[in-house]
Amino acid sequence: MFIFQKIAFFFRINFLIFILLSLTIAVILLNKYSLNTTFTISPATYPYIVAESDSVDGGNSTIDLIKTDSSVIIDYELKEGIPYPYVNLQIFLGDGRTIGKDFSVYDSIYLWIKPRGEGSVRFYLRGWDPAFSRKDDPSSLKFNELEYFPLEENYPAVFVPEEFRVSGWWVAQKGINAHKARMDISNVPLIEIQTGTGAALGYGTLEIFKISFRGKIIPKETLYASLVAVWFIAFLLILVFRIFDYSRERKINRRKREELEKNLQALKIEKDSFEKSSKEDPLTGCLNRAGFSSILTREQFRLNYNGTPLSFIILDIDHFKDINDQYGHDIGDTALIELAKLLQSRIRSTDSLVRWGGEEFVVLCGDTPLQNAQFLAEKLRQAIERAALIPQQKITCSFGVAEMFPGEDTKAFFNRADKALYTSKQNGRNCVTASARKKE
Ligand code: GH3
Ligand code: MG
Ligand code: MG
Repeated sequence: MFIFQKIAFFFRINFLIFILLSLTIAVILLNKYSLNTTFTISPATYPYIVAESDSVDGGNSTIDLIKTDSSVIIDYELKEGIPYPYVNLQIFLGDGRTIGKDFSVYDSIYLWIKPRGEGSVRFYLRGWDPAFSRKDDPSSLKFNELEYFPLEENYPAVFVPEEFRVSGWWVAQKGINAHKARMDISNVPLIEIQTGTGAALGYGTLEIFKISFRGKIIPKETLYASLVAVWFIAFLLILVFRIFDYSRERKINRRKREELEKNLQALKIEKDSFEKSSKEDPLTGCLNRAGFSSILTREQFRLNYNGTPLSFIILDIDHFKDINDQYGHDIGDTALIELAKLLQSRIRSTDSLVRWGGEEFVVLCGDTPLQNAQFLAEKLRQAIERAALIPQQKITCSFGVAEMFPGEDTKAFFNRADKALYTSKQNGRNCVTASARKKE
C-alpha cells in the first residue's frame, strides 16, 4: 500500500511538471507562429491622407495625388526654390493632432512603397509628447525617422522599431532635452512619407500600396515573465505538497509502528498464557507432567553435578473412586482442588507440586534428603487427615517417598517411589512409606 502511495506521489509530481512543460512549449510556439496582431493602412482606401509639396514652406515643387484601386501615386516635380526641395504624403491617425496610435507594441513594420527612379524615401512616425508638442504647431510632433532606399529585392521593406532615429535637425531646432530626444512611437497621430535626402530635381513618382505593422498579441516580455511566475508558483506548490506528504507519511508510519507494537505485546501476553497453560493442570492449577519435566531436569543436574539431594513424594487419595461414586464427580473435583490448595500451602516455594494424573500428586523437593522429605510427607498426611477437604467425609492419602541416587534413571526412580506408595496402600493406607535410602 505504502509503495503504491509513493509511486502515485512521484507520478503526480512528474505529471504536473509534464503538463506545465507541455503548456509552456505550446504557449511559446503558439505565440511564435500565431497570436499575431496586425495594423494595416492602405492609402487607396484610407480617407485621411493629404499630399503636399514644399510650397507649404515657400518652395516651388509641385505634386499630384493619383488614386488607383490598390495604391496612391504621388506624381511630383521637384524644383529649385528652398534648400531641400521635397514632396510629402501625410496620413492622419486618431485625431491627427494629439491622440494617435501606439506603435510600440509592434515588432516589425512592412512598407510597400515603390519609387520611380533612384533615391531614398523618408518614413516618419510623428509622435505627440505633451512635454514639447503643441496643438497648433504640427512641426512640434517628434520626427521618428527612417530613411531607406527602396530596392526591388527588398520589397516590401521590413524594419524593426529600433531602426527609427529622431531627426537631429529637429532636436536642434526645437532645443529638445537629450532624455526626451529618444525615439518614441507610443502615440503617433501622423505618418509621413517623403522624398529622401538630396532627391534629384525634376519629375518623379512614389507609389504607396500599403503600410503594415505586425506584432504579437502578447508581447514577448509579458509572456516570459508570466511563464517564469507560473513555474515559480508551481515549484512552490510542489515543495509545499512534498512537505505535507512527508509529514503525512511520517504520521502514518508512526501509527503503523504503534499498532505493530501493540499487536506484538498482545501476542506476547497470549504466548505467555499459552506457555503457562501448556504446563498447568486446568482443574487444580498445579504443574502438569510437561511443566514438571523441565524442573526435574534442572534438579537432576544439580544432583548429578553438585550433589544436591533430590527427593520425590507421591501421594494418592484413598478410595477416591468411592467419593466420586457416592457424591458425584463434581464433589470429587472439589476434593482435588482443595487438596491441591492444602498441599501448595504446606510446601516450600522451592518445592514443586505436580498433578501426576487422576487423584495422584507429586511433590518434587529440591535440595532435600530422604529423611526431610519423609518428614514433610508425614506432615502433609496429618494435615490432610485433619482438614475437611469436602464437608461430606474425611479424606486421607497414602504416600510414597524416594530420594534419587546420583545418575539414577528417572523411570527407575519413579518406580521406587510408586512401589513405596503401593506399600503404603498395602499397609492399610493413610501412611507414609520411604523407599530404601541405598541401592538394594
Ligand atoms: P485406592 O485407595 O486404592 O487408591 O482407591 P481409589 O478408589 O482411589 O483408586 P482408583 O485408582 O481405582 O480410583 C481412582 C479414581 O479417581 C477413578 C476416577 O474416577 C477418579 N478420578 C481420576 N481423575 C479424576 C478427576 O479429575 N476428577 C474426579 N472427580 N475423579 C477423578
Ligand atoms: Mg490412583
Ligand atoms: Mg486412590
